[in-house]
Amino acid sequence: MAQSRGEASWSNWSGSVSCRPVRAEQPGSEAALADLVRRARDEKLSVRVAGTGHSFMPLVASDGVVVLPGGLQGIESHDRDRLQVWVRSGTVLHDLGDPLLELGMAMANLGDIDVQTLGGALATGTHGTGRTLGNLSSCVVAIRFVNAEGEVVTCSGEDDPELLRALRVSVGAVGAVSAACLQLVPAYKLHERIVRASTDECLEALESETRRHRHFEFFWYPHVDRVEMKSLDLTDEEPDDLPDRKGERIGWSPHIIPSVRELKFNEMEYAVPEEHGPACFAAVRERIRTVHPDVVWPVEYRTLASDDALLSTAHGRPTVTISVHQDGSLPFRDFFADVEPIFWDCGGRPHWGKVHTRTARDLRQVYPRWEDFQTLREQHDPQGRFLNDHLRTLFLD
Ligand SMILES: Cc1cc2nc3c(=O)[nH]c(=O)nc-3n(C[C@H](O)[C@H](O)[C@H](O)COP(=O)(O)OP(=O)(O)OC[C@H]3O[C@@H](n4cnc5c(N)ncnc54)[C@H](O)[C@@H]3O)c2cc1C
Repeated sequence: MAQSRGEASWSNWSGSVSCRPVRAEQPGSEAALADLVRRARDEKLSVRVAGTGHSFMPLVASDGVVVLPGGLQGIESHDRDRLQVWVRSGTVLHDLGDPLLELGMAMANLGDIDVQTLGGALATGTHGTGRTLGNLSSCVVAIRFVNAEGEVVTCSGEDDPELLRALRVSVGAVGAVSAACLQLVPAYKLHERIVRASTDECLEALESETRRHRHFEFFWYPHVDRVEMKSLDLTDEEPDDLPDRKGERIGWSPHIIPSVRELKFNEMEYAVPEEHGPACFAAVRERIRTVHPDVVWPVEYRTLASDDALLSTAHGRPTVTISVHQDGSLPFRDFFADVEPIFWDCGGRPHWGKVHTRTARDLRQVYPRWEDFQTLREQHDPQGRFLNDHLRTLFLD
């Protein structure tokens, strides 16, 4: 990443988004972040905060200032009795796992990877799987952010629950988050089991499997029409209790939940009401088998508990998330565009960080608290300093 004025460039993980901002800056403190926002305001430049670029949409792309996350890292403070920690927003989730274990704590869940920043994961409603487990944002009990005037604002569930509900999943449109206070759980170990099965066997067992396990998901491989089912359950056993058992592992949660994804891909994911999950998957399966027989990347099926963040994809409803993938070197837009109406017809809400074509006109139909979010966004950023072209289509259309 070049950082000299006028020559900066930024691109995302999959390579599908790049931009040339006026400058990219890496503030080393919350005060420096606030100063950056005030300077940008005086120069009438837009500001977009970057995480590690693991979103597939042009969320960070900016012709103004891109804020790099590297200077705002680590745990600020912790409270062992309440199982709470204040974490700086640029902290990569992977770097949080072991320090939290040393404190005897862990996040209740993680997504498929742990190389995102905390700020990026919260902004897009990043989630893992598990019927009783909310997205990562649902563990945020307080947040500090810099508004468009360069003022530091703190909000918590006690003093301003509505603002907190807006900040938990904000797509970076309300301000630049400097730190968040997370409600954690006592450190726990998980037993992972991976089982291959026919698609029909998986679908027959789906309801009971999603209820039986703390975490359950399956990947459907279209070219062979078979699945890989993955479950994770709490255990007191030790890793050595499982010698040579194929497809099984035991370990502390931050070592077991995330995977390593080395191959580049693009992805579309929608969150549909839980009760529509099986029918939605069946329609996607049928469409891929009949119209896109060349697709070999899997479809992923996960569950997610309801929450109350205004823009959470699981707002107000138990949810199933279904995602389609395509290799990073292959065209993906026509394939995704063909599948997207199936998700939409099932009442789906697109993942904020993944590929979709929805604008404000569509999105306001699927978010009951849409206008309340807009009111708070405009209150803290009346000039749209934190918007870019993509966010204007999401929020101003
Ligand atoms: C391989 C891979 C696996 C993935 N797995 C999952 C998964 O299991 N579950 C899931 O839900 N998603 C998943 N995602 C999507 C990913 O978690 C989200 O796109 C997430 O936002 C990426 O975080 P990031 O740090 O890369 O943020 P970026 O992509 O860089 O930014 C995302 C958004 O966060 C905003 N932002 C970042 N920091 C701040 C801040 N401090 N203040 C305000 N706004 C901020 C940005 O402005 C932007 O709008 C995956 C993506 C990839 C590439």
